[in-house]
This record gives sequence, structure tokens and C-alpha cells, in this order.
Amino acid sequence: MTAEIIDGKALAATVREKVAGQVARLKENHQITPGLAVVLVGEDPASQVYVRSKGKQTVETGMNSYEHKLEADTPEADLLALIDTLNNDPEVHGILVQLPLPGHLDEDLVINSISPEKDVDGFHVSNVGRLGTGQKSMVPCTPLGCLMMLREHHGRLSGMDAVVIGRSNIVGKPMAQLLLGDSCTVTIAHSRTRDLPGTVRRADIVVAAVGRPQMVPGDWIKPGATVIDVGINRIAAPERGVNEDGSPKSRLVGDVDFESAAAVAGAITPVPGGVGPMTIACLLANTVTACCRANGLDEPEGLTA
Ligand code: NAD
Repeated sequence: MTAEIIDGKALAATVREKVAGQVARLKENHQITPGLAVVLVGEDPASQVYVRSKGKQTVETGMNSYEHKLEADTPEADLLALIDTLNNDPEVHGILVQLPLPGHLDEDLVINSISPEKDVDGFHVSNVGRLGTGQKSMVPCTPLGCLMMLREHHGRLSGMDAVVIGRSNIVGKPMAQLLLGDSCTVTIAHSRTRDLPGTVRRADIVVAAVGRPQMVPGDWIKPGATVIDVGINRIAAPERGVNEDGSPKSRLVGDVDFESAAAVAGAITPVPGGVGPMTIACLLANTVTACCRANGLDEPEGLTA
């Protein structure tokens, strides 16, 4: 069997189109332009790339993008003061503080100082609790993107056996909550799971969010299962030649061994081009959802969980 490829790039483009349509509707009918504020502290190169990409896509969908770049040694009080200003700014509907933060800043404190209604990353403890109790919340972007891909592929997920590998607050745990919300039978596996291969083999849906290159081989996958690979890992790829400094070129791989898994699975997401593009698309979707809620308007169908 050769798995169907779940094209995250294409679905992300569809989500962005939907977002752009909603932005146009908000502008035309209500004279409101959704706005997303992104706060970057320090100069982490990967974070800079993410922030640039988020800002670009925000503008492309017709929204306002506000970027706040702070020095790496910014005192916590200054960051909290900026968040307070953004919380009270009616032009700002979504606030995202790019993680990781420099070590002297308390990540939990910072995230929980964002107004939950503007917390488009869905990391505020109030949104975590709301998701866990089935109330309307802001849903973390990466798991929301995974859920959208699963719904797109399967329609209803009710009754399916799902295994989420990884129990992080930003991917594994919210992913499990979302699958439970769609009536899957959910197992969360992690580094202490006794029989990981056996656990994964029972799953109709496997979501791998570990951060270990190609750790899930095809012979762990139940024939016909759907595999969502969240992992983004850079590995050396000497077959691609060498860089100017003589080091081998590299490439991105997921947490799943794509070749062997694709030979067994019914459907699988590639890396790159799977979950990654959906994450930013869902950030834009969350911003529109937050804007509609803030203005007492009906929120668009299909852009949240
Ligand atoms: P994390 O390090 O916070 O969590 C990893 C989890 O994997 C932990 O819960 C741990 O228990 C589990 N784990 C570690 N070793 C294991 C093992 N041998 N067997 C089973 N479980 C094990 O990571 P995270 O933030 O959840 O991210 C996971 C991966 O997803 C990373 O590669 C990250 O880059 C990627 N990621 C991708 C996106 C995206 O947009 N595509 C977004 C977020 C994270």
C-alpha cells in the first residue's frame, strides 16, 4: 500500500483564502480590520524567521500586522507593560509572544498576562482550561492545524483510536484534547511509555510530536492508519553536497520515517509541507476568530475547532 499524501501546503492555502474572505467581509460590512501583534524578544535566528513569515502572511490576508522587537535583556516589567498596552488596544485582536523567551523572563507569567481573548497561541491557562472542559477557547495553532487536516481527510473522527506521541503543553496535550473533543479514543504516549511500538500499532490515527528524527518506523504503523507528523528535525544530508565551510548540507525530516511509514499507512503528512504550513494558517484563522468574538460578530465556520 502507498499512502495518500495529506498536502498541508494546499490546505493551508485554502485556510488563508477563507481568512482573507472573512477579513474582506469585516472591512466592508463592519469597517473593522483584524490586527495581530507579534512580540519578539532577542535575536534567536529561527524565531526571527518565524516572526517575519507570520507578519508577511498576516499582511497578505489583509490584516494589520504589528511587530514589536525588544532587546534580549529587556526587563520583565517592560515586556509586561507592552503586553498590557496591547491588551488595551482595540486595534489589536491577537497577541503572540514568540517563544522561547530569554532565560531571565518567566514564560508562564508572560503568557498568562496576555488577555485570554487575544491569546491567539492558545497557551493562556484560561484557554487551556476552556479547551479541556469543552468551552469556547482559543486553540493552539499546531494541533488545530492537525485537526483540520484530519477532518479534511476523514470527515468525522468519532470512535477512531488515536495515539498522540509527546505530551508537551503546546502540541501533545492540546492535540489529545481536540481528538477527544471529536470523540476519538485517545492515548497519550511519551518517553516513559512501556510499549511504544505496540501502542502505536493499535492506532487508526498517529500524531507524532516528539522532536526525534525518523523515530517512528513503518512497522509501528497499523496498515491503513493516518499519520500526522509534527516533528521538524534538521539532519545532515551529505548526499546533497557540502556548504561553503565544508560542512555537509542538511535537510528537514519529521519524527516519522516517511518512506517506510508511507508504504503501510493509508495517509501521511510530509515534512516539510505538512503540519508546518498549517500552523501559521491557523494563527491567521485564530486572529480572525478573536476579532469576530471581540466585536460580538458571528465567527466564521471552519476556522476553529
Ligand atoms: P517537546 O520537547 O516539548 O516535547 C516532546 C515530547 O516528546 C515530550 O512530551 C516527551 O515526553 C516526548 N518524548 C521524548 N522522547 C520520547 C521517546 N523516545 N518516545 C516517546 N516520546 C518521547 O516538543 P514539542 O514542542 O511538543 O515539539 C515536538 C516536535 O514538533 C519538535 O520536532 C518540534 O520542532 C515540532 N513542532 C512543529 C511545529 C509545526 O508547526 N510543525 C510546531 C511545534 C512543534
